[in-house]
Amino acid sequence: MELTAEQEAIRELVHEVAVEEIRPVARETDRDATFPEDVWDTLAELDLTGLTVPEEYGGFDADRQTYALVNEEVAYGMLSVATALSVHGLATSCIAEFGDEDQRERWLPDMATGRPVGAFALSEPNAGSNPRQMTTEARREGDEYVIDGQKQWITNGSRAGVIVLFAKTDRADPNTITQFVVPADADGLSVGEKEDKLGLRASDTTSLTFDGVRIPAENRLTEEGKGLSAALSILTGGRVGIAAQSVGLAQSALDEAVSYAQEREQFDQPIADIQTIQHKLADMQTTVQAGRLLTWDAARKLERGDDGAPMAASMAKYFASEGATEVTNEAVQIHGGYGYTTDFPVERLYRDSKITTIYEGTSEIQQTVIARELLEQE
Ligand SMILES: Cc1cc2nc3c(=O)[nH]c(=O)nc-3n(C[C@H](O)[C@H](O)[C@H](O)COP(=O)(O)OP(=O)(O)OC[C@H]3O[C@@H](n4cnc5c(N)ncnc54)[C@H](O)[C@@H]3O)c2cc1C
Repeated sequence: MELTAEQEAIRELVHEVAVEEIRPVARETDRDATFPEDVWDTLAELDLTGLTVPEEYGGFDADRQTYALVNEEVAYGMLSVATALSVHGLATSCIAEFGDEDQRERWLPDMATGRPVGAFALSEPNAGSNPRQMTTEARREGDEYVIDGQKQWITNGSRAGVIVLFAKTDRADPNTITQFVVPADADGLSVGEKEDKLGLRASDTTSLTFDGVRIPAENRLTEEGKGLSAALSILTGGRVGIAAQSVGLAQSALDEAVSYAQEREQFDQPIADIQTIQHKLADMQTTVQAGRLLTWDAARKLERGDDGAPMAASMAKYFASEGATEVTNEAVQIHGGYGYTTDFPVERLYRDSKITTIYEGTSEIQQTVIARELLEQE
């Protein structure tokens, strides 16, 4: 589980950015529900917006361990920024992995620089855990596809210039899910209002409505019917990213709790001297580190192309995200009444943590994947 010198250096660099540039804007952008575009530009300058783009298209081409480290450290700064970055990365991964040479040349060099921003549009109002239930249709007409339908909960929905879209070529046939690239300024495409959310407030989440949107057939990324397996394979990597983000968020809450416990005095002593508080901190530390090790294990299995990677990714995401909700809950508890106010970051961390158990596959879906893999091994 050792890191290379290069991985350590990237980790330190991104940690510094998280502390010095992301955290200082977290409270305000959470309150105003606005995305910190300056921070995005900083990440772009560091080539992190090209994290999952191959080098020949101007990207960083990070190995999976580095990908996990970057996600952890950006989330240490703020989960909204890490989510926006990782969803942009899902979009670039789809184009890099499933696109042909022309498609890669067309989109990846620009996306690696951070603009246009990418979105990944799989979920729908009535198709979340079960994407096969989607109803968005891309009908072939000559050299074009005509798209009708609605996508829901799309991260970067109002910021994106490039949308990786999943749609059926025949609405009645669940085996026709196909992957396309749609420019966000296409005629007939409209972006819904930003969702007013419990947490993750600086990250924009919108619906996207497609009303007779026409795209050239050359914007199709996968063969017809191969879109769902492509989405699922990309999401295995995405889950490692969310696991890492959960660890970063939880580490941030733990650090806040440790320093508060050493400063806050009750009964003529710092509360850190009270054994009950020490036990809470010990449990939090154990949860964070266990989540980190599961995440690194999954990242390494993915990098090696190990058959155990999907199960490892689901275990990491399941454990680290549920762990993040527990750790942030205890961090608020250790802050007492102050933790319940916006004056201390733990309140935001507590609200932000909940989404990690929901998106990119809920905890229940991760349990399903783990059990399925386990039973198939028997
Ligand atoms: C802030 C935010 C950002 C998001 N960003 C994106 C994005 O960028 N792109 C995108 O495509 N999607 C995105 N999503 C969507 C997200 O991935 C879905 O919300 C998630 O997959 C769950 O789907 P659902 O909300 O429809 O819940 P449902 O699928 O309706 O689930 C409801 C409940 O039923 C449970 N459940 C459902 N099926 C089963 C089962 N078979 N076994 C056991 N339990 C089950 C679930 O675990 C959950 O507890 C985002 C969501 C949010 C809230």
